Amino acid sequence: MQNKDLRKISRTTFDPAMWKKNLAMLHKSLPNRLISWFSGHQRELPWRQTTDPYAIWVSEIMLQQTQVATVVPYFQRFMARYPTVRMLAAAPLEDVLSLWAGLGYYSRATRMHRCAEFICTYLNGRFPTTRDELMVLPGIGRYTAGAVASIAFGQSVPVLDGNVIRVLTRLLAIADNIAAPATHAMLWTIAGQLVPASNPGTYNQAVMELGATICLPRNPHCSRCPVRGLCQARRLNIQGDLPVKTAARQPRRSGCMTVVIEAAGKLLLLKRPPGGLWSSLWEFPTFHNSTGRHAPRNAASTIRRALGLNVNSVQTIGSLTHQLTHRTFDYHIFLARMDAAPQRVALPECDCGRYQAFAWVKAIAQRPCGTITRKIDRAVKAVSVVAADAPNDLANR
Ligand code: SF4
Repeated sequence: MQNKDLRKISRTTFDPAMWKKNLAMLHKSLPNRLISWFSGHQRELPWRQTTDPYAIWVSEIMLQQTQVATVVPYFQRFMARYPTVRMLAAAPLEDVLSLWAGLGYYSRATRMHRCAEFICTYLNGRFPTTRDELMVLPGIGRYTAGAVASIAFGQSVPVLDGNVIRVLTRLLAIADNIAAPATHAMLWTIAGQLVPASNPGTYNQAVMELGATICLPRNPHCSRCPVRGLCQARRLNIQGDLPVKTAARQPRRSGCMTVVIEAAGKLLLLKRPPGGLWSSLWEFPTFHNSTGRHAPRNAASTIRRALGLNVNSVQTIGSLTHQLTHRTFDYHIFLARMDAAPQRVALPECDCGRYQAFAWVKAIAQRPCGTITRKIDRAVKAVSVVAADAPNDLANR
C-alpha cells in the first residue's frame, strides 16, 4: 500500500471518537490477554528468572541492538564474573571490555561500568526504585529505566523499543512515520496509557515478546496472535505495511589504512581514547581520513612519520569492509615487520582523538579488542602464512 493511502487510513483511525474507543478497548482487554499468553508462551531466558534490578539492567543494556540468542551466553558469562553491581564497579574497565568483546557497541560496557561506579559511590550500591530516579543515573535512558522500574520494582511505567512500536502501530493502525519525534512522543504516551497498574513488568515483557516472536516485521503470525481480535491493522489488512519509517540515511563511507606491525613475535596494539567509537578498546594502528589506496611504500612512510618506527618490510594483506549502523569503513591492511619491539612508540591521532597507549603483545587476546581487530588479525594470519615464502614488497623495490 502507498504511504498516502496509509496516511488516509491513519487519519480515519485518528478520528477522535474512534481513537478513544480503540484505545479504551485496548486498555480494557490488552493487558490481561497478553499476560495470560505470555505465561504459557514466553521463551525461557536467564534474566527472566530474577527480579534483581542489577541482572535486569545488565540484560537490557546487552539486548540493545543485539539479538537474544547472541546475548544469552554473554549475559551468563557476565553474571558469573560480576554477580553484583559492587563487583562490576570494582573491576578494571579493561576486564569488563574484554568480557564484552564480540558483543559490539562497546560504549555500552563503558557506560555500564561508569554507572556501576556511580551507584556504589553515591547510592551505597543500591539501585533507585523509580523510573525517574533511575533516569538520573549515567547511561540509563527512558527505555532502560522503564524496564528496570517495571520488572524489578513493579512500577507502572511503559517501555518503548522497536518491538513495542511495531505492536502498537499495528494494533492501532498508526501509519505516521515512526522516525518523526512527534510520532515517537505519541507512542510513548500510548504505551503509558496501556501499561496496567498490576503486573506492569510482566505486561511490558509480554508486549516485547509478542513483537519478537509473533508480530514480526515481515510476516506477522496473525493467526496465532493472542490479540488479533483487537488489531486494527489486521482488520484493515495493512499489518505488512506498518510501521511506516522513512528510508534510513545511507551509511557514511570512509577508507582507512591499518598497519599490523610485528616485531620479535609481538604485535603492536594502540589503545583508543575514551568516548566515541570503540571507546578505550585496543586496535592495530589505523589511519583514517584516507582513501586507503596506498602502496606498501606509503605504509612504511606513514609508520615512520606517525609512530616513529622504521620497519624492515611491508606486505599488502588486502581489504576488509566493516559495516556499522551509520558508518561503513574500508580497511586497507598491511603487515610490517621489524627485528625488535622498540620501547618508544609515538601515539598518533585516530578518528576520534589521540591514541592513549601502546603495547607489544604476543596475541591480541591479551587486550580488549573489537570485532574488526579480530577480523584483521585472522586475515593477516591467513595471508601471511600463505605468503611466508614470498618476497616482501619493500625488498622488491
Ligand atoms: S494481529 Fe497480527 S499485526 Fe496485529 S498485533 Fe497480532 S501479529 Fe501483530
